[in-house]
Amino acid sequence: MSEENRYFRRGLGNRPAVVGILHADYHSGLVEFLKASGHRFHHDDTTLRLAREFGFCYGVDRAVEYAYEARERFPDRRTWLVGEIIHNPGVNRRLQEMGVRFLPAAETVGDHLAEVEADDVVIIPAFGVPHVDFTRLRERGCILVDTTCGSVLTVWKSVEKYARSGVTAVIHGKYDHEETRATCSQVTCHAGAHFLVVRDRSEAEEVCAFLEGRIDRTAFLERFAQAASPGFDPALHLERIGCANQTTMLSSESLEIAGLLRAAVARRHGETAAVARVRSFDTICSATQERQDAVLELVAEGCSLIVVIGGFNSSNTNHLVEIASASTRTYHIEDAANLVSERWVRHKPLGERSPLVEEGWLPAGPLTIGVTAGASTPDSEIGASIERLLRFRGVPEEMLAEADAEGRRIAEERRERERSQSKA
Ligand code: SF4
Repeated sequence: MSEENRYFRRGLGNRPAVVGILHADYHSGLVEFLKASGHRFHHDDTTLRLAREFGFCYGVDRAVEYAYEARERFPDRRTWLVGEIIHNPGVNRRLQEMGVRFLPAAETVGDHLAEVEADDVVIIPAFGVPHVDFTRLRERGCILVDTTCGSVLTVWKSVEKYARSGVTAVIHGKYDHEETRATCSQVTCHAGAHFLVVRDRSEAEEVCAFLEGRIDRTAFLERFAQAASPGFDPALHLERIGCANQTTMLSSESLEIAGLLRAAVARRHGETAAVARVRSFDTICSATQERQDAVLELVAEGCSLIVVIGGFNSSNTNHLVEIASASTRTYHIEDAANLVSERWVRHKPLGERSPLVEEGWLPAGPLTIGVTAGASTPDSEIGASIERLLRFRGVPEEMLAEADAEGRRIAEERRERERSQSKA
């Protein structure tokens, strides 16, 4: 097999063969209907507002599609996924059913790539993989389907630019998140380059405290032991810094952190020096930004409660929960099954590690329910949750069935238009 046929970054050329299956697995007539009805459903004293932007982003859509294409094109080869394709248990389960095997997380075994052989297919998830894993997989000669999102690559370009010019990348993110680990690896493949990962405003303030001489080197290194590059010395490596972020963080917090660091450097070295010593690029992806803005709109409209659907370990979903719950009663559920009944809900409150079951969550009387979903939640799961919510609120079965049928008709018309355009 030629080199060209061992590395795929722009699809595998068999999209038409998988479009129908993807549609059947992940689409929802009810969601299509809502989109065509101004993202609003009204019946008696219930109004349901679906966020203007929600669910699968362009990067996830593409990653899932390429995984399906890979199975269709190479049905007889062992197919591996490095970690999870996205943080959605339902989608990962579906891929497993299709025969995709999951490689263990790097920190759980000695060599997480040990089982991969030259004849295998390996799918790189939308988060990307650490540079060393990518190099090893290329050397092993297996077929690589690289779904690393273009917006993640933009972050990599920023931190590489910093690394080449001797600037330490200060990355707003979670040091143990797949995307951030991959981003950090783009720094350390440049000799002598360093990174520091800060999770939130409170950690950024610790960095400011060091910059202004309020905490010492030992205290700093204890605090950031796991979140800094090997050999990191704050006295040396915070001299010139460049801010970047994991693409799914709270954009307002990323901007705030960049501002805090710049202000601390200005207080220590003066305004002119701060311009030279602190660089910043906003690398929050547009899909994350649009979903966060759309939740703020739901909040501004005065929803009585907001349901956020998405993996409990999904970073972008948790940030939607954070925004919504600042002012509105919010329930983070993973799927429709978590909406147990009108009386009981299984949800993960903001900041908790595990979900809990709560009684008396859905009030009687006039109600406006806002619904949104993280970038790794397919329409099928959103539609199933909305259907359940509307049923709890007494929307008749025939009304739901009509809406679903109408949405399917709209989606079919669109697919038909796309088919004729691709033939033309
Ligand atoms: S959230 Fe943004 S960076 Fe992540 S996969 Fe989606 S589009 Fe790409």
